[in-house]
Amino acid sequence: MILHVDMDAFFAAVERLDDPALAGCCLVVGSDSRRGVVAAASYEARRFGIHSAMPMFQARRLCPDLIIVPPRRARYQQVSRALMAHLSGYTPLVEKVSIDEAYLDVSGCRRLFGPPPEMAARIKSSIRERFGLTCSIGGAPLKFLAKIASDMQKPDGLTLIAPEEVDAFIAALPVARIPGVGQRTQEQLEKMGLYRMADVRRMPTEALVRRMGKFGRRLHELSRGVDRSRVQPWQPTKSISEEKTLSRDISNRTDLNRIILQQAEDVGRRLRASGLKARIVSLKLKFADFQQLTRRSTLERPTRSSTVIYTRAVDLLESVSLGKKVRLVGVGVGGLQSAATPQQACLFGDDEAASEEWERVDAAVDAVASRFGPDAVRKGTLLD
Ligand SMILES: [Mg+2]
Repeated sequence: MILHVDMDAFFAAVERLDDPALAGCCLVVGSDSRRGVVAAASYEARRFGIHSAMPMFQARRLCPDLIIVPPRRARYQQVSRALMAHLSGYTPLVEKVSIDEAYLDVSGCRRLFGPPPEMAARIKSSIRERFGLTCSIGGAPLKFLAKIASDMQKPDGLTLIAPEEVDAFIAALPVARIPGVGQRTQEQLEKMGLYRMADVRRMPTEALVRRMGKFGRRLHELSRGVDRSRVQPWQPTKSISEEKTLSRDISNRTDLNRIILQQAEDVGRRLRASGLKARIVSLKLKFADFQQLTRRSTLERPTRSSTVIYTRAVDLLESVSLGKKVRLVGVGVGGLQSAATPQQACLFGDDEAASEEWERVDAAVDAVASRFGPDAVRKGTLLD
């Protein structure tokens, strides 16, 4: 049995937790700037048709009494970490899927916590007691069904699909409910006359694969109740990145470099905090016409230095011609490995010494930042 635990309107709920005056009102979390979007909406706000990713001006138009709270990511992360640790108390098989969502494989916990309905109810009440937050839980013998189930009675829901109900439940599912089926895929399926999973099940696998490729095969398997995905308790971080939609479009390289510097420092700090080194630096740009571009570069030696990340990201920017204005900039690192991995020594001393010196600077800056916040120390170029 797999449970999918999904916190209800998580960011908004945490804001209410910290400021009880926000209870019961139409609340959204998000930036109130000209291009701000809704990051999370309370259920009161959702009744007005407000949902996440909606432009803020539109949300405000739908609900004139809307209260807008700027996001506090660090606080949400903190609560999220505590929640995940709490869930690990039920089973070691916890897979965190996002900041407020996790899968739990509870197959082996019956003796400890009782049958699934009892256990799920217990998890819900413990989260309410310990954190003052509500969640919705879906449970099923298949992972994809657990996810669908948790969404069925939000907020504060509990939906369990017993093994003997699986077959009928899947057959009745509209194709749009299947994770991975977006609007385009849905249209494609409906053109073939496939509206529910029962229709998919009747279609020969090969016909579906011919039209939809690999996803067709997966969809057909799901329609027959075959889901090979397991709860994966630990997933190594594959990449770390920071990105920002600019408050106005720019094409000035000096300004862009400054944004890259700040992002490189934030990425570097997260890298060091995770005990990792990176081999790949990437730069992402989105232009005013929404065209997007990503450039990657592999380093000679893995790094955790903000300065090395910054220098390489700026090199990448140099290689891009800025005919159009830029609306979004992102710096990221990939090819991650443990910082403890032994390194091949460099035969001809190049920048190694310099890089070590910068690492000492980074360590000092990290220490200050962890005590006084990330803005306590910044490079002089970042000051207005
Ligand atoms: Mg949620």
